[in-house]
Amino acid sequence: MIRGARHYNQEMVTTPEDPVAAQSRYEPVIGLEVHVQLLTRTKIFCGCSTQFGDPPNSNVCPVCLGLPGPLPVLNQRAVEFAVLAATALNCKINQTSIFARKNYFYPDLPKGYQISQYDKPLAEHGYIEIKGATGLKRIGITRVHLEEDAGKSLHDGLPDSGDWTSIDLNRSGVPLIEIVSEPDIALPDEAHEYLTRLKEIILYTGVSDCNMEEGSLRCDANVSIRPRGETRFGTKAEVKNVNSFRFIRHALEYEIERHQQVLESGGRIVQETRLYNSAEGKTYSMRSKEQAHDYRYFPEPDLLPLVVDEKWRKQITDQLPELPAARRARMVEQYGITEYDATTLTGTRSLADQFEEAAKAAKNPKRVANLVQSELLGRLNAAGLEIEQSPISMEGVAMSADLVESGAISGKMLKELYDLAFGRREDFPAIYEKEKPKQLTDIAAIEKIIDEVIAANPRQLEQYRAGKKTVIGFFVGQVMKASKGQANPAMVNELLAKKLG
Ligand code: ADP
Ligand code: MG
Ligand code: ZN
Repeated sequence: MIRGARHYNQEMVTTPEDPVAAQSRYEPVIGLEVHVQLLTRTKIFCGCSTQFGDPPNSNVCPVCLGLPGPLPVLNQRAVEFAVLAATALNCKINQTSIFARKNYFYPDLPKGYQISQYDKPLAEHGYIEIKGATGLKRIGITRVHLEEDAGKSLHDGLPDSGDWTSIDLNRSGVPLIEIVSEPDIALPDEAHEYLTRLKEIILYTGVSDCNMEEGSLRCDANVSIRPRGETRFGTKAEVKNVNSFRFIRHALEYEIERHQQVLESGGRIVQETRLYNSAEGKTYSMRSKEQAHDYRYFPEPDLLPLVVDEKWRKQITDQLPELPAARRARMVEQYGITEYDATTLTGTRSLADQFEEAAKAAKNPKRVANLVQSELLGRLNAAGLEIEQSPISMEGVAMSADLVESGAISGKMLKELYDLAFGRREDFPAIYEKEKPKQLTDIAAIEKIIDEVIAANPRQLEQYRAGKKTVIGFFVGQVMKASKGQANPAMVNELLAKKLG
């Protein structure tokens, strides 16, 4: 038995199926196609509402139902949103772009074609900067184009009618942008980081809510592997229908592993579209992948070329807010916080706004950064609240930071006060007013503590007497600590100065 086991282990190290060895022989190549729904009130080519969750087929008209006759009219706001997003993604806006028909049959596509853009898209040549495995890395964005969404097939059947699929065309004609990346992504982790940065940027521009549960952000992941050192790409598989960034990372890991096993066992990868099943953590073949020529693209005859001239482009992009990367850099500079803190604190525009409000109001912005991250966000998370719903306002955060800074309350007390604020859903100033430690203002009592602190720290006393006046800060801190934060800070300062002098 033992001999058998040892033999087996040796085999494991050298066998070609060893995943670690295979991983180092192959290099993954990943490119992502992301669809983002634009937050217009009405659809891209008609006046129907885009409201999510309305009764099925209530927001439809002859245009988005694909009835013969009516003509599409382009929604100006959709173009403006697309230009904003593309600019934020560092793309070049093409002055003239062309809508094209992408023909395919599907029950939720009543016209038999989707209006999209093909060889003349709205924008090209962009990039997103991500933290790659070996430092900052640019992931190229091939194109950003405008298109309409299809309807939705609901495969959950109807009551008492067995195995039915029903179709809701409310989504038919809702405006989307498709953001296609270059195959520059080398690891599932990088894909996750790319999507995180992409979503953050889009959210900052305000053109989409990027709500993945409602399908406002959808990602198809393309992945292939090739032997290290090989310059040509391998055959890719496209994984569709993955509804969280975490699942996309996992689906990619699964696919890379699967490709390796196929190649290592002498097989060939077929180009195909696969579905990810998150419950099983596996992908399944759905269909062999269509090629562009299968779609019989041709210019949409019912729409004029889209012209975004320089003047209009500028009018639109003048509305761009400060974007996350720039904001992070500025916040590091302005508040002296770390890159890491800035990354967390710019996670959403609203969080960054709130943080800056508190940071400007407080004496020490770094302390605010710490407080928000270590005390506020965790409690919000646990309570299932967004920053906007925080019981502790930003004035409250600033006030609490200043109180800790001056030594008026201890860190422990701050935690207790925050707990109370969350428990009672009251703001910090109100809680503090009710619960604040009784202040010690008895001169004799404070002097007694000061004497003890001075006696216990002869080295610091010597330093002070030798001229290092900043040591007084140390003594103030010690006295506040010894009084459990209760001594009146102004009196402590005054009495200490007297005693030491
Ligand atoms: P398709 O016509 O099959 O949709 P595209 O050329 O439009 O292919 O590319 C779609 C996405 O797939 C892009 O994000 C691109 O970067 C990525 N991609 C293309 N070739 C590969 C490959 N061999 N391996 C991984 N990703 C790829
Ligand atoms: Mg494609
Ligand atoms: Zn309509």
